[in-house]
Amino acid sequence: MTRVAPRFDILAAATYATPPNNGGPENRKRVVLEAVFGDNVFGLHQMKSRLPKPQYDALLNTVRNGSELDPSVADAVAVAMKEWALEKGATHYTHWFQPLTGLTAEKHDSFLNPTRDGRAITEFGGKELVQGEPDASSFPSGGLRATFEARGYTAWDPTSPAFLMEGASGAYLCIPTAFASWAGDALDKKTPLLRSVHALDQQARRALALFGKPAKAVRATLGPEQEFFLIDQEFFYRRPDLVTCGRTLFGTKPPKGQEMEDHYFGSIPERVLEYMNEVELDLYKLGVPLKTRHNEVAPGQYEMAPIYEDANQAADHQQLTMSTLRRVARKYGLACLLHEKPFQGVNGSGKHLNWSFGTDDQNLLEPGETPHDNVQFLFFCAAVLRAVARHQDLLRAAVAHAGNDHRLGANEAPPAIISAFVGDQLQDIFEQIAEAGEAKSSKVNGLMGLGVSVLPRLPKHAGDRNRTSPFAFTGNKFEFRALGSSQSISFPATVLNTIVAESLDVMCGRLEAALEKGDSFEDALRALLVDEVREFRPIVFNGDNYSVEWVEEAQRRGLLNLRNTMEALPGIVAEDNATLFEKYGVLTHRELESRLEIYVDHYFKTVNIEGETAQYMAQTMVLPAAMRYLSDLLSTAESADKVGLQSEGVLATARQVNELIDHLTAKLGVLAEQNQELGGDDVFSKAHHMRDNIVPAMTAVRDVVDRLERIIPDDLWPFPTYRDMLFVK
Ligand code: ADP
Ligand code: MG
Repeated sequence: MTRVAPRFDILAAATYATPPNNGGPENRKRVVLEAVFGDNVFGLHQMKSRLPKPQYDALLNTVRNGSELDPSVADAVAVAMKEWALEKGATHYTHWFQPLTGLTAEKHDSFLNPTRDGRAITEFGGKELVQGEPDASSFPSGGLRATFEARGYTAWDPTSPAFLMEGASGAYLCIPTAFASWAGDALDKKTPLLRSVHALDQQARRALALFGKPAKAVRATLGPEQEFFLIDQEFFYRRPDLVTCGRTLFGTKPPKGQEMEDHYFGSIPERVLEYMNEVELDLYKLGVPLKTRHNEVAPGQYEMAPIYEDANQAADHQQLTMSTLRRVARKYGLACLLHEKPFQGVNGSGKHLNWSFGTDDQNLLEPGETPHDNVQFLFFCAAVLRAVARHQDLLRAAVAHAGNDHRLGANEAPPAIISAFVGDQLQDIFEQIAEAGEAKSSKVNGLMGLGVSVLPRLPKHAGDRNRTSPFAFTGNKFEFRALGSSQSISFPATVLNTIVAESLDVMCGRLEAALEKGDSFEDALRALLVDEVREFRPIVFNGDNYSVEWVEEAQRRGLLNLRNTMEALPGIVAEDNATLFEKYGVLTHRELESRLEIYVDHYFKTVNIEGETAQYMAQTMVLPAAMRYLSDLLSTAESADKVGLQSEGVLATARQVNELIDHLTAKLGVLAEQNQELGGDDVFSKAHHMRDNIVPAMTAVRDVVDRLERIIPDDLWPFPTYRDMLFVK
């Protein structure tokens, strides 16, 4: 009988040779951060030195203030961009865009143009820079583009700089672009984000003007914290579920999980550190300002986060970060798992999206020392909370996808109920406003002594952290914590920008009307705040979001509890949301409907692939292993019997295995039958079939497989276990 010996993998993985370490500072590869950062970016700095002044000024005005770009500038930029790229050894260029798959796409063209005399020159002009036409027929469009009309256009986004992707044997120039259909419908994630940034800018500037502080531009800022798992590549390729679904469909909790809490913030294992260094180096060159790195809670789990940037730039950089994390892992014999829940029974991975908005000189969510008299801050903060209260369904829908269904509400990530944490100090101020019509004091922050005189006194935060809240005010920004780790941040950010733009619009409207009537600004503002605070109060919750009591309390408060993707997604096209997007020019009704269809389709396909993979693995890997073991047991019993030995233990185990084989066969039968059916023709009924029939059928199969894993001999088990995967560094 041939045997797989998975234990061999462990040895191979555990003894993975990290590149030999330096031997001393003189041999260590030195990274000069200032020289490396942005080295592969064709940014303002490069443009300034390479463009004629008038063209540079025009471009700067577009980048800084969003003014329309004069087409003649494109030619000058193209020339300078080509020169720069060729000097850096690029041979190709590509329009780099973000289709609705949530990934990025590129189609390369060479700079090369043959001449009649058999030689070649390089060419790249304004025309090539500004517009491209990739064959769009294979990108999801949700009915926006009939298949016979395959045309899709990419359009240069001058507000995000071009960059160079380098490999060992060549480099190519990437030009960030928007992607739209022939009829002008947005087919990507960037276009609506840019539109929402514009809407927020307009309304926030209108508000600032009322406060007597006119501004040139208000920008949304984003800082995404990325969590991920790293496992040895050997293990990854031995698990069909990881390869095709990005998560394990089977696996029992290891004897040691995260309960010892010895991984979080522990020292980073050597191989992982080498890997992170290379990830950072690549991303620094691309101008991505990565700032922090550390071990996360679960074994094998890590986090990296950048310094915040303008929304559009941050969204592009986040896509680059995810692809770099995946790509570099292979060089170190690792696989980077960005799935929300790669391992059952172990913490999953999320992405905290820090969000704020401000001018060049001022973060509009900065409360200052005495927030109660910072009425401008209270106004903007109230606008955000008002928006969250009114569009819970939209925020929930923006984080709804199959992977996140395993996390939200599973007591390791926020619940599916959207609420906002504001901390004691703000909570107290809002109470005062709601009860007494105005706030007269702020709870004092003070200093926190650590009781040891050699240690410095730390400023005490106005509110403690609350890790359980889906939407938390953290000092001078909100942190939207419900995003999945694999998600593009574009749509959640688009939603935030748009709903806050709407709140500001309505609140400014009220102020303007009151001023028109002759009210003083102070009176008008006070009255407005009282009304708004009373209205959004139910959304504010500072307590434990994991508790059962909160679920009941939230229901009493009338908050939504949309427990899974298929409950949450339809919220995207709810009437008030559709009107909202249309009104602020962010997404037309058609574009919105198409997104809903694409997201539902994505849910259906994801679960469908999982169902098929679970069936395949259980049938062709687990069941045969169980049968081999049964056959071993039976031959042992037979041999024992020949020499007159009683073999009760052997037979008892054989009966147990036999019974589990029966169970597995039965559950597999159900899964196979459900996999055969697709649940109807339209994508919604297919998706419902997945949620209502496939997910439970998979769970039932998993239950038996995981019981078998606990009794089948280690050397017969057909794929690496959690114990193998999570602890080899
Ligand atoms: P905390 O201690 O609350 O986690 P950090 O300052 O470490 O705060 O920030 C965490 C993340 O929030 C980082 O990615 C950071 O860049 C981002 N962040 C900080 N300020 C802002 C802001 N004004 N807008 C958006 N993101 C921000
Ligand atoms: Mg974190």
